[in-house]
Amino acid sequence: MLFRSLIIAATVFASPAFAQDDLSPEGQAIETAIQAYASKTNDERRDVLVQQLRAAGYQPELQGFEGGTPRTGPLPGANVVVTVGEGEKDIVLTGHFDAVPLSDGVMSQGVIDNAGSITLMIEALDLISDRVAQTPSPYRYVFVFTDQEELGLIGARKWLEGHDRSRIHAVINLDVNGYGETLMYGENVGEQSAFVLAAMRMQCAERAVDCMAFPVYPPSDDRVFSAAGVPVISIGSQDAVGAHQMWLAFNGGETTGLAEGFVPPVFQRIHSAGDDMQWIDGDDILRNARFIADLALRLSRDN
Ligand SMILES: [Zn+2]
Repeated sequence: MLFRSLIIAATVFASPAFAQDDLSPEGQAIETAIQAYASKTNDERRDVLVQQLRAAGYQPELQGFEGGTPRTGPLPGANVVVTVGEGEKDIVLTGHFDAVPLSDGVMSQGVIDNAGSITLMIEALDLISDRVAQTPSPYRYVFVFTDQEELGLIGARKWLEGHDRSRIHAVINLDVNGYGETLMYGENVGEQSAFVLAAMRMQCAERAVDCMAFPVYPPSDDRVFSAAGVPVISIGSQDAVGAHQMWLAFNGGETTGLAEGFVPPVFQRIHSAGDDMQWIDGDDILRNARFIADLALRLSRDN
């Protein structure tokens, strides 16, 4: 390719790969739902979540706790929990709704991290509820929208402390799911999680979905569960190029081949003023929600 063509190609491909024009009505609804979280305080984000769940016909339970860190001082928090079904074992889906304050004190919009995962979970909740209504399941599906993840996984820890962990069959954690068709997941989740990773691999293969296993994957609420010996998988999404760059950044050692000082795109965005709606793709989230709902149902079928 000629240099000139390269420049033209670079210009073409530099624009976001997702054209907002051809967004489906359902994808548009997802984006509107995400927008409602942008730049709110964490208490307001919790209120938005509860309202959205109620509007969708659920009765979310608020489970309050005393949280905070030495830096923040004591800080009350509350996880939001919705339970579907009545089985003796639990498939748990987790995702944090809280966002971080930026260095200037203004709240991050927190849409990639992590309102995208929250709307994905609500979509998966609808799909699973419909399925359970048709075919009763021997499993309960427990959706835990966690608070104070950004302060050190506090909400997830508090939830696990208050839950009978012998009930938990598997946990699916969702963090950073604003856009992208490549699903990323960590393999650093403990030996007890091998069957969860196997289910993920099977489903990726069957659906011909582009999935990337990370030997080392950045921490999220999954660490609370893996440390406690609970089977868990942590899943995020991104465009293929960003996912490969992120894989190299975390797993490439000293020979990543990435330019010195290079930061994978998603890490330039989250926890910054750049975590905004321009990156969000409702149709990606919708498709990934179907995948996650089916993964949860697969985990209740295969074992
Ligand atoms: Zn996050």
